Amino acid sequence: MDGSITKQEQITSSAQMKTTRSSELMELSEAVIPGGVNSPVRAFKAVGGVPRFIKRANGAYLYDVDDNRYLDFCCSWGPLIFGHADPDVVAAIQAQATDGLSYGACTEHEYRLAEFITSHVDAVEKIRFVSSGTEAVMSAVRLARGYTKRDLIVKFEGCYHGHSDYLLVKAGSGLATFAQPSSAGVPTNSTSDTIVLPLDNDAAVIELFKRQGDRIAAVIIEGIPANNGLLVQRPEFMKLLRQLTERNGALMILDEVITGFRIGLSGAAGMYNITPDLLTYGKIIGGGLPVGAFGGRADIMDLLSPLGPVYQAGTLSGNPLAMVAGLTTLKKLSQENVYAELAEKTFAFTRLISDKLSGTDFQIVSVASLFWIVFQADAPRAAAQIQKEAVERYNTRYNMLLDAGIYFPPSAYEVCFVSTAHTKEALTEAATVFSEIMN
Ligand SMILES: *Cc1c(COP(=O)(O)O)cnc(C)c1O
Repeated sequence: MDGSITKQEQITSSAQMKTTRSSELMELSEAVIPGGVNSPVRAFKAVGGVPRFIKRANGAYLYDVDDNRYLDFCCSWGPLIFGHADPDVVAAIQAQATDGLSYGACTEHEYRLAEFITSHVDAVEKIRFVSSGTEAVMSAVRLARGYTKRDLIVKFEGCYHGHSDYLLVKAGSGLATFAQPSSAGVPTNSTSDTIVLPLDNDAAVIELFKRQGDRIAAVIIEGIPANNGLLVQRPEFMKLLRQLTERNGALMILDEVITGFRIGLSGAAGMYNITPDLLTYGKIIGGGLPVGAFGGRADIMDLLSPLGPVYQAGTLSGNPLAMVAGLTTLKKLSQENVYAELAEKTFAFTRLISDKLSGTDFQIVSVASLFWIVFQADAPRAAAQIQKEAVERYNTRYNMLLDAGIYFPPSAYEVCFVSTAHTKEALTEAATVFSEIMN
């Protein structure tokens, strides 16, 4: 070291935030909650530093327990398309809360939300609500197996579908392999009917269907894979999956937990102009409350209990607070010119960043109000193409972003979200700061 201060050091030393209370709360939490967190990524293991304990949030901003403010690009991992504590959503929840929190009986709200979704997504003729994305996918897979009377499930490396045993898997070596459990506690037995393929690889899918097409219950893929970077697929690849499943009597399950109502009212199914047999939802359709849903062809959905032999149930399913929060959110999305404005805002923001970043390889992958910035020369379409160095560049500079009041997801593999509450001014400022830190 020659003693000169680099740009990074300047930013770090000039603007370190006070995080005393967050640190204290983390220590207290660690004593009673494993790792101090209720979902692992919140522990900041990839990026280091102090996970911020949030006290309140409003619009585009999070406020932590040390009274720091952050422009939030995580948006609770996607649900908050109108930002935090949207007044309309909050009012709907408050009004419902005074009338009761849960009945375990039918409500008009469930019908309204189901009616809204089925009338906006062609592929969804009937829908059932659950309480998380994980549960939605689990139920859709069981239904697909019940309908086809087959067991094999095909998923893609780099797609996340929640943490059920048979989907918490990674590929073995080789192209089309039986899955290996990617977590301790997942019995090998429960993954032996899951096959993992690479994304963006037509030949691997064709070959698999040639060999085992008549044994496959379903192929599941994210609308746009957005849990391991933003791995936008070629439309031809999605169409190939649709064709092969159809020809072989297998179902196509499109997991729209992130993309549903994020990239438009008809989601990725609409974007690719495909009609999956089953679709799964979560995140946005609960307006910030815990919700999931699965839906699709009526003849398949009617196999569910109580009509048919496929059992599925939930004590809090269709919870009235969640239903009104979701319905309020979706109605707002359908009324205004929301998607166009969001896309324009996001584009302007990412454009500013690409103008300012220089002397470094980077890709900004963006679809509607979703974006992901990765520091490598080519935009990856498959998980294996994401470079370690790209991940390190983000992770090592992440805490500088925080110190500058910008809350990105605490992992290089996670995508970012823009809400209607993000103002152009705030985004412009954030673009400058982000570029300076990442350059
Ligand atoms: C978030 C997510 C899930 C899991 O949803 P949870 O509500 O976290 O259980 C499943 N699939 C996709 C595509 C997701 O993004």
